[in-house]
Amino acid sequence: MTADPQNLPVASPIMAEPYRIKTVETLPITTRAHREKAIKEAGYNTFLLHSRDVYIDLLTDSGTNAMSDKQWSAMMSGDEAYAGSVSFDELKDAVEEIYGFPYVVPTHQGRGAEHLISKILIKEGQSVPGNMYFTTTRLHQELAGGTFVDIIVDEAHDPTNQNPFKGNVDLKKLQSLIDQVGPANIAYVNVAVTVNLAGGQPVSMQNLREVSELCRRHEIIVWSDATRLAENAFFIQEREEGYAGKSIREIVKEMMTHFDGCTMSGKKDCLVNIGGFLAMRDPSVFQRACELVVVYEGMPSYGGMAGRDMAAMAQGIHEMVDDDYIAHRIHQIRHLGNQLLAAGVPIVEPIGGHAVFLDAKRFLPHLTQEDLPAQSLAAELYLESGVRAMERGIVSAGRNKATGLNNAPKLELVRLTIPRRVYTDRHMDVVAASVIALYSRRDQIHGMTMVYEPPTLRFFTARFEPMA
Ligand SMILES: *Cc1c(COP(=O)(O)O)cnc(C)c1O
Repeated sequence: MTADPQNLPVASPIMAEPYRIKTVETLPITTRAHREKAIKEAGYNTFLLHSRDVYIDLLTDSGTNAMSDKQWSAMMSGDEAYAGSVSFDELKDAVEEIYGFPYVVPTHQGRGAEHLISKILIKEGQSVPGNMYFTTTRLHQELAGGTFVDIIVDEAHDPTNQNPFKGNVDLKKLQSLIDQVGPANIAYVNVAVTVNLAGGQPVSMQNLREVSELCRRHEIIVWSDATRLAENAFFIQEREEGYAGKSIREIVKEMMTHFDGCTMSGKKDCLVNIGGFLAMRDPSVFQRACELVVVYEGMPSYGGMAGRDMAAMAQGIHEMVDDDYIAHRIHQIRHLGNQLLAAGVPIVEPIGGHAVFLDAKRFLPHLTQEDLPAQSLAAELYLESGVRAMERGIVSAGRNKATGLNNAPKLELVRLTIPRRVYTDRHMDVVAASVIALYSRRDQIHGMTMVYEPPTLRFFTARFEPMA
């Protein structure tokens, strides 16, 4: 597809899914009484609901992708050899062709790659700056002895700010950290594209260029959490001067030139259900990764993945840079978000790359953050309509390592995450109507208290009770 409006591929003002359906999966349609029982049994934590009780599942876009006919074909021809698998070669070739990194180590999923790179690059006491934290990323950095430092632009913390690149690194924050601790005490700079917890907000190419120049000047390694790089590339194509005529494939490749390597959760943009990898340019980092991957994941040529899964991921990497696919994906998210905006529902703006985020602080202004507004709203949305969303607020942010107090993030959000190629725009209409109905009776929504709190990544398994 070209970006020239005079030369649209299909002469229609409406954009529909650029694929048709070959296999169908029936959805469970439930009653309110059924949902009341189900959410109570789940401790009011949407993570603990059974999927058989969920109508439209927007918990996550992680591993929930629908694979293509070509990916399913690749599964059948996957090579399960313990060593030297053809499917590994296909994955390696796809990563080299699309990302431009010569070395790749497969891992069972993204956090497997985060574990390896944290162990390789972080020394006890070092800082690891990044553009907003991500749950598993920060945990692995801390387990390796590092301290995460947030260097994202201030606009990222403001859900109404219209900056087109709210995921950008604030170069002044990065420079002042370098001045303060010295470049030797920075393990590496980690740049996520797009930024999940900021609302799927992108980073501009110019910012990537500037971050990498600054880091090279100080001989600091720059890594990318490239989990959603194709979505980020779409925003660069749409918003950044000089990129309108470039393909997603070209933009992805250029983005990655600014990094020494990346971690990747294949469960997101690579369009598979499981898998991930660590990719890099430096042969000595690759060697270290090969030494560690055999301890924690598996042989360097499969790293915790089946041959068939590597084959499907290799094919998915080619599909993720298809311009029509990614244009519809972003369109579908906006199709949901724009209906909410039109009804006055507070959401994070601009609408991001993988989800619509409800702003629970503005949705439920009668609750304090300690009343867990986002957790409460996610439970209430499920009760209302069987739509499952996720809390991304004070519960997800966990506790401060030193003080033991709750981290109180500025953003208190409910994430409506859109799985790739799974639902139609019509499903988005149902979700929009449900959220709007809830918004019109928002003053009746109560807060929650946490009655069970696990020691780490508490949002996954914590249990709650509604306040009277
Ligand atoms: C999902 C995700 C990860 C972790 O990947 P898993 O495959 O879930 O282990 C890391 N970073 C970002 C931005 C993610 O969205």
